[in-house]
Amino acid sequence: MSEIIQSVFENQNTAGQIQDKIQPSYPFLVYEKHEDLQRLEEILGQIRQSKTGRQLIDDAEKHQTSICLDDGMRAYGAYDEVENHLKVNAKSDLNRQVGTMAHELRHAQQFQKGIIMDAYLDTPKTYIQNQSVIEADASATATAVCFELALNGNDKPLEALREKDAHIVNPFQNQAVKGGLNDGSAYQAAFKGWFSDYSTRDCYDILYIKMVRQRFKNCTREEEEKKFERVVPVNDIVQKVCLCQGKPYLSEKEADAFFSTQDACSVSFERFNNIFGNCYMKFNFDFSKPQEEVMKEKLGLCSRPHSGYMPAKIVPEPLPIPSVAERQVLAAEKIAAAKKEKTPAQNIIHEAVKRKIVAQK
Ligand SMILES: [Zn+2]
Repeated sequence: MSEIIQSVFENQNTAGQIQDKIQPSYPFLVYEKHEDLQRLEEILGQIRQSKTGRQLIDDAEKHQTSICLDDGMRAYGAYDEVENHLKVNAKSDLNRQVGTMAHELRHAQQFQKGIIMDAYLDTPKTYIQNQSVIEADASATATAVCFELALNGNDKPLEALREKDAHIVNPFQNQAVKGGLNDGSAYQAAFKGWFSDYSTRDCYDILYIKMVRQRFKNCTREEEEKKFERVVPVNDIVQKVCLCQGKPYLSEKEADAFFSTQDACSVSFERFNNIFGNCYMKFNFDFSKPQEEVMKEKLGLCSRPHSGYMPAKIVPEPLPIPSVAERQVLAAEKIAAAKKEKTPAQNIIHEAVKRKIVAQK
């Protein structure tokens, strides 16, 4: 017991020292240790160097989203829309945490726009497509933040993101260097890139099945009667959240075309069977027909190849940032220009100081 009390006092002392050292720049940070506050401030500080990032932080602050580090989580980060709480994995390195926090901040921003999603009430296709929209959009936005940082000379968060998400970062970059940062086409390329990674999509299909089970445990009788019925059109979600500089980066027509392709209506083979099992009673599936036919007809879903299938890799265009040699030339030019501008008075002082140094020697 005494040990506990002592540790409480120690923590209070540390808390006192923290206040002397560093003040949180964001009012809803949750932390216990000084290192955590420091790290959170480092991440926020980097994100604020990007215009898109500053907007994300401002919106989260208005929305009072709490932010913490978590050393017990397996994912890179998470946003809980019910609690309005954002977590970043404490064990990731700083560069990875910058991209992760930007991704999760985008989720916080998305849910301020009144998204409706419920794994148990929504039709499986609606839920899976809408889930993919918010994930692809959050990844595209995180890429935008890291890309802006790279243009400012800090390319480490972008490279950390590329290690994990080359299929999103490379299409974004290739479009951005062609001027696609302002017209939304870089966002659109990254968004579509998200769908090319079947292993990530499979993970979200698994998550969907888990969410259905979880909701089933606490659903009301009324909800049970209405399960898997609600249609939340994917285009509604796209037009609400997929924005670049306030404008949708996928038009209604583009989104309709994209989400009606067979690939965008597919789930992994294993989850296809899970969904069939969840829905066969509710929708009176006809067992005399082939499973694929029934699922397509009743739920608009088909199964896709195993996650081992991956499309061809996209090679990135070079980043439009100066190389080290170019930066050295620029710096030398700046120094030369600054020397020229010196007033005679400064030169006299400079000479005097020089003489003093010589005299001291
Ligand atoms: Zn996410």
